[in-house]
Amino acid sequence: MPDPMALTVVGSIAFDAVRTPFGERERQLGGSAVHFALAASFFTDVRVVGPVGDDFGDEEFAILAGHGVETADIERVEGGQTFFWRGHYEHDLNVAHTDDTQLNVFADFEPKISAEAAASDLLFLGNIQPDLQRQVRAEATGAKFAALDSMNLWIDIARDGLCAAISEVDCVLLNDAEIRMLTEEPNLILAARKLMELGPSTVVAKRGEYGAALFTRTGHFALPALLLEEVRDPTGAGDSFAGGFLGYLDSLGHYDPDLGDLRRAMVYGSTMASFNVEDFGTERVRSLSRDEVEARLEDFRELTRFE
Ligand code: AMP
Repeated sequence: MPDPMALTVVGSIAFDAVRTPFGERERQLGGSAVHFALAASFFTDVRVVGPVGDDFGDEEFAILAGHGVETADIERVEGGQTFFWRGHYEHDLNVAHTDDTQLNVFADFEPKISAEAAASDLLFLGNIQPDLQRQVRAEATGAKFAALDSMNLWIDIARDGLCAAISEVDCVLLNDAEIRMLTEEPNLILAARKLMELGPSTVVAKRGEYGAALFTRTGHFALPALLLEEVRDPTGAGDSFAGGFLGYLDSLGHYDPDLGDLRRAMVYGSTMASFNVEDFGTERVRSLSRDEVEARLEDFRELTRFE
């Protein structure tokens, strides 16, 4: 009998080489599904779908399993290499540059999800090729709420596929610049409305160090990011946000969130993103406790208090 509260994520599982003004790592665990799953694991049961190569070893599996993440749907391709991304950030960490992307095992990935994954109530389509997102969406017949993330690369080279994928989900999470680019509408509210016209009822605009905004057909909400003293590597912040956001929604146990549920989910998403950026890759989130998560929620309450 599948767990009634379970969240499935498909997305990249990666090794990243990252340089920021505060240091660099030549090979760290990353990928949209990994950052998402670690963040969501604080709130619910998470199952990761995606391929890895045989360079993805016990150490990497152990990091996921150590957080209770179900790895049975991670397909290990013999002789294959894990997805690889190299990038760097400018002094303004909002400005990221991709230096290399090697799809490797993702190039031939044919998603076939298990019965348990198909039965998950909540589905997150992390940043991968939009046609793969659509295939997983079609196979996840039990999903009552599906959300999607993407990036400028797919807007550039697979716009039609991405629009089709968006029309098949309930919620879209994108950077504000990506929303403007995709809709060709500079005003964020009007741009979010254009995305909702494609089908989704909920749009989240991630705004880097400036926070995030939520748009639904019945109202809006916006939250600043915490003002942190230590910011070392923003890689995975968007996926950690999505993990906190959807992990919290899944923990509610119903799949028709109202504006109040979504507002609280925004705070959990922002909380997980704030931890993610404090250190390289998954280093900070990996060592995090649930008490620290709750304490940071209070920091948000204090930051946004207004009388
Ligand atoms: P973000 O939350 O946007 O910072 O996501 C960062 C993660 O996305 C990194 O860990 C990369 O491994 C992964 N990534 C970068 N480019 C791609 C791509 N084209 N497809 C899938 N994942 C990617």
